[in-house]
Amino acid sequence: MQAWVVSQPGLIETSPLRYVEKPVPAPAPGEMLVQVLACAVCRTDLHISEGDLPLHREHITPGHMVVGLVAGLGEGVTDHALGDRVGVAWLRYTDGTCAYCRRGNENLCPNSLYTGWDADGGYAEYTTVPAAFAYRLPTGVTDVELAPLLCAGIIGYRALQRASLPDHGRLGLYGFGDSAHLVAQVAVAQGATVHALTRGEASRRLALELGATSAGGAYDSPPEPLDSAILFAPVGDLVPVAMRALDRGGVLAVAGIHLSDIPPLKYQTELFYEKQLRSVTSNTRHDGREFLALAVRYHVRATTHVYPMSQAQQALQDLKAGLFDGAAVLVNDRDAAQ
Ligand SMILES: [Zn+2]
Ligand SMILES: [Zn+2]
Repeated sequence: MQAWVVSQPGLIETSPLRYVEKPVPAPAPGEMLVQVLACAVCRTDLHISEGDLPLHREHITPGHMVVGLVAGLGEGVTDHALGDRVGVAWLRYTDGTCAYCRRGNENLCPNSLYTGWDADGGYAEYTTVPAAFAYRLPTGVTDVELAPLLCAGIIGYRALQRASLPDHGRLGLYGFGDSAHLVAQVAVAQGATVHALTRGEASRRLALELGATSAGGAYDSPPEPLDSAILFAPVGDLVPVAMRALDRGGVLAVAGIHLSDIPPLKYQTELFYEKQLRSVTSNTRHDGREFLALAVRYHVRATTHVYPMSQAQQALQDLKAGLFDGAAVLVNDRDAAQ
């Protein structure tokens, strides 16, 4: 099969990924082989390709928002059948026995493993997934629409929970890409007032189309104080900006796995009055199942930009350059041509 690999991380403009021929992987006991139908592109893939996140394995194949068909069952897998449509997401393994796992925080498991970082992911014709970490997917939604829900959506949903948005609260979204445009739909459906704060005219237009009350620049002040905010842009300079925009008791959740350094915070204006700054680390399977159910109930739809699998590197370059709204989704070249 053909698959993309990161051998030597480097700036994406220098094309650090290579498209190579690899054997179709064999599912280990407890795993399934999955034929990739669609794989959405995540900013984390960019961080791995550029070396912001250290390589966990040589020649890793990125990609952790996969919609695919079960094409093989490893030993002991009984709860899925060949041909089932499943989702393969970022969280791939937790030990289930540590203190964090036992208290329901498997996202903090020190022994956790991740798709497209610790094991080969979906920038390929086939990938594998432990059956216990595969998601069952709703019917009536296309592969391309579903794929971005699997990381952008799930992580965004966890960030929304970490931001402790009160009922009918005022939510600021800093950066309005794949994750934010999905979270915005959930928040609006639940009665929140959403303010988008982002660079790019097209992103602001998309935010307003999806029901945001206002859309301004990332460094602008929102039109009213915020109860909660989520920082999606990987820009530490925005932390004090967002903290100043919070009302008393407000919460800022930083959604990204990677953030540039945060400048010093001014205590009086950026932290006092019990403002809180929180990070978001991965997600639990419970988050994932809950979000997928809400996405169906609220008709959450990803705005997608389809690329043929052979153009994955271009998709990452375009993501970095901010050339599209919503989420890039890779499909096999034959489907892309149709
Ligand atoms: Zn991701
Ligand atoms: Zn654990």
